[in-house]
Amino acid sequence: ENLPGDSNLENSRRQVLESVYSFVTPIKTSEPKLLHVSKEMQNRLGFSDKDVDSQEFLDFVTGNSVLPNSKPFAMCYGGHQFGHWAGQLGDGRAINLGEINDWAIQLKGAGPTPYSRSADGLAVLRSSIREYLCSEAMYHLGVPTTRALSLSLTGDKVLRDMMYDGNSAYEKGAIVSRVSPSFLRFGNYEIFSARNDIKNLKILIDYTIKTHFSELGEPGKETYLKFFQEVTDRTLDMIIHWQRVGFVHGVMNTDNMSILGLTIDYGPYGWLEGFDFGWTPNTTDRQHKRYRYGNQPNIGLWNLYQLANALFPLIEDAEPLETILESYKTNYEVKSQNMMRSKLGLVTEQNTDIDLIMALEHNLHASETDMTIFFRKLSNFKKETPEEGIQLIQDAFYVPSEIKDHVLTQWNQWFTDYADRLKDETLSYDQRKEQMNKTNPKYVLRNYMAQMAIDKADNGDYTLIEEFYQLLKKPYDEQPNSEQWFAKRPEWARHKVGCSM
Ligand code: AMP
Ligand code: MG
Ligand code: MG
Repeated sequence: ENLPGDSNLENSRRQVLESVYSFVTPIKTSEPKLLHVSKEMQNRLGFSDKDVDSQEFLDFVTGNSVLPNSKPFAMCYGGHQFGHWAGQLGDGRAINLGEINDWAIQLKGAGPTPYSRSADGLAVLRSSIREYLCSEAMYHLGVPTTRALSLSLTGDKVLRDMMYDGNSAYEKGAIVSRVSPSFLRFGNYEIFSARNDIKNLKILIDYTIKTHFSELGEPGKETYLKFFQEVTDRTLDMIIHWQRVGFVHGVMNTDNMSILGLTIDYGPYGWLEGFDFGWTPNTTDRQHKRYRYGNQPNIGLWNLYQLANALFPLIEDAEPLETILESYKTNYEVKSQNMMRSKLGLVTEQNTDIDLIMALEHNLHASETDMTIFFRKLSNFKKETPEEGIQLIQDAFYVPSEIKDHVLTQWNQWFTDYADRLKDETLSYDQRKEQMNKTNPKYVLRNYMAQMAIDKADNGDYTLIEEFYQLLKKPYDEQPNSEQWFAKRPEWARHKVGCSM
């Protein structure tokens, strides 16, 4: 439906009826500058250091030139946003360049597409640093995620509303080149179903299965159900990982749910500091807190219901779909308890473990306890001396002087119960410590750390980006020269969270 060669028409915003994608051309940037390249991803894609230093590479990752024989495009998708069907959305600021070694490459912030609606298709340095650093950090934490290859400045200015004062300001424009086996989202399937375009729905599902789930067999009703089961399992596993490391996505709309079960679209995400099921980093969601930490598993299920509805026309039988959705709930109970057991260094199962876990979560919240520091320090706990428990994790409390006596009593009780529970385990102290430190990271991209990297970069100093990139490559290792990042949020950062746009 596009006239070839007319890039204005290609990129103009519109309802793109019946389309699956639209060819688009990235806009030219005025003064592109490469700020960082993920060495990990560079190697995987087969770029040499010489490649990365070349003008061609810079032009490629900023959209200034399009490789011969490639046809960049933006995908059409829909989505449920904050619980409501939002209709057609689509890649409003992401442009797909093509694939290298089965990895799809997207530029985020390379200009408008037909799906940009009223927005500009651009990204600012602030949000780009957040996506770049966090997606790579998540990978090294063992959390399924999309990846990033590079972070660049465009040299152009981008106007943004400031959340906190209602004014607008110009910020530095930036582009992340991000990478994934696929960027397909639940919303890609929903849009066809919503249009009652069963033909394209089937083409897309068959393509997805053949390309990404070929082990499930030839497309057909039975395989569609296996596919839905697999997406359900992967989505649950991803969210359990989020809960394990204290990651809150912030915008779990169905257009931000990867069909491969990868963490995608790093917007107003945040990391738990004080443990709190009710916490959300998303300032636009502060009233209902739909996407709060403790609600992520429920929302995953709610989103899978929307996907089930979208797939229904091809399956025409609700019962097996409902059975799969039910399996999410039962698997959640089992997997989340096992995840918590692993955080506590328990390798055997007891029915009463759930009580130990719930009492712990209650205490962590009641005394504003830094989640990352607590679990890391807990690996030093000795079952012979439970009375030393509080002392051991003292550093994790944000305001020790404000902890009520009855909460301290509950903590002492908990350490006594934990010590008793450990007596039924067979792991030695050293073994338990080792296994706990593999599941409880020492270093995560704390909200204030991302902010510090952003503030420096705004002033032309990119050293913290490199420092954090290196630090977060080994989140489970002791890194004696980086102890300063194993620290509670400073007081200046208490009410600040990064925002997304
Ligand atoms: P998000 O909440 O960031 O996942 O975005 C929801 C929708 O808005 C998606 O279709 C995005 O592509 C689109 N969008 C977000 N920011 C921009 C932007 N600056 N320009 C164009 N489209 C955008
Ligand atoms: Mg999105
Ligand atoms: Mg986004």
